[in-house]
Amino acid sequence: MDKVKRAFLRACINHSCLDPEQIDKILTPLCEHHKVEKPANKEALYKLVGEIENTIRELNQSLGFVQHPISGKEYLVFAITEATPDKLAHPGLSAEECQYFSIILDMLGQREDLCIAWNEAYSNVNFKGTATKPPTKLRMQTLLQMWNDMGYFVESDDHLYLGARSIVEFEFHLRSHYVDTIKECALCKKLVFWDVKCSDCGRKIHRECIRKYLRTRSNCPTCGNKWCTRLSQ
Ligand SMILES: [Zn+2]
Ligand SMILES: [Zn+2]
Repeated sequence: MDKVKRAFLRACINHSCLDPEQIDKILTPLCEHHKVEKPANKEALYKLVGEIENTIRELNQSLGFVQHPISGKEYLVFAITEATPDKLAHPGLSAEECQYFSIILDMLGQREDLCIAWNEAYSNVNFKGTATKPPTKLRMQTLLQMWNDMGYFVESDDHLYLGARSIVEFEFHLRSHYVDTIKECALCKKLVFWDVKCSDCGRKIHRECIRKYLRTRSNCPTCGNKWCTRLSQ
């Protein structure tokens, strides 16, 4: 099994962000090749990932599942913890192209709904300061597609959202730079990006957290008023 773990970790490092189909496509042949049994269910897969996580945590790396409320998928994300977007390794990209990444991240982080219209991401982008050669529109679209594939962003209904990889990798950056738009869930203290809002105080909260909470109570944990927002999706 150790060989499978090592090979699976390598694949996770290469892809950074895997959806359930991709996990299956990688893990099935790996297990067959090494003649070990494939994790039979989600719990077994979580256990395998947890064991790999334990071996890399000291290296400031993390591997874990992230449920993305916009795409509705659960991704397996490999990330360097506490990375910042400017230190981000963009091999082969120009300084302007790296700057473009930071600009998009910034646009997303400052919006209340943490998303922008897809065409806004490559029209009238404001390259401040010394960018001598901003990428062309076509190049911007290619880059966005690449960053989507890498899990940094997610496209849904002609809008661009923060992706699972950004949420994990830039957690510290997001927490410290966008204090007005990105806050902790009042119940679990992890960051909450979309999910549901109290109709009274407007505070965002994880759907699952408030669902459990309301089993025994009926008020908003932040403002104390009666919770009125519907939880069904
Ligand atoms: Zn929560
Ligand atoms: Zn409230």
